[in-house]
Amino acid sequence: MLRINQPAISKMPRVKLSGFFRKLAKKSMLNKMQKLKLSSKIRMVANPQKVVKASERRLRFYTKYADFVLKTLKKPLFQKFLNWVIKRENIEGHMVKNIQVRVFPFQKENGKRLAGRWNSKGEILIYPKRLDFFRKMMRNGKKETVYFYIKCRAMATLIHELLHVKYLDDENNVRELTRKYFNIFIQRQNTQNSNASGIQKMLFPN
Ligand SMILES: [Zn+2]
Repeated sequence: MLRINQPAISKMPRVKLSGFFRKLAKKSMLNKMQKLKLSSKIRMVANPQKVVKASERRLRFYTKYADFVLKTLKKPLFQKFLNWVIKRENIEGHMVKNIQVRVFPFQKENGKRLAGRWNSKGEILIYPKRLDFFRKMMRNGKKETVYFYIKCRAMATLIHELLHVKYLDDENNVRELTRKYFNIFIQRQNTQNSNASGIQKMLFPN
């Protein structure tokens, strides 16, 4: 909160004072705009207990993974696309307090693994796929395919969780729209990757 004591104000020339408040108003408007910008809300988060427990190899793998995801999600072209989706779907973007790129995978109590989550605190959490999965993939695939898969999975997850902000528990609808928007984005990119359709099948089976 801003505090100005009365005598100081009365001594200030009128013109300067109004200029001061104009600047202040501009600043708070900028802050609001800044808050609406999704890219400024994305950050990497690691559970400290998991960091302590992880082997050096796992830690190195997952940190590198999260860093790559962070860069992917912050790309201006993708951010522009997300803003377009938010507008088109009338999603209340300001409800998203932060987007956490989690370093370690998440397993639910029923053993199911999650790609992402939107919680009641207004946080979107994005989880990585497990290291074992990539070991297999690396054995019979190219490194670029792995990177492309990670990129697509992270982008599709963020689109999916953003849609949950509006459609809440309507999982079927969210899934369908995720597929639709992800396809629009992938098709628009001029660097068409030949693996795109294969990756899409992996991300959206059935
Ligand atoms: Zn969902």
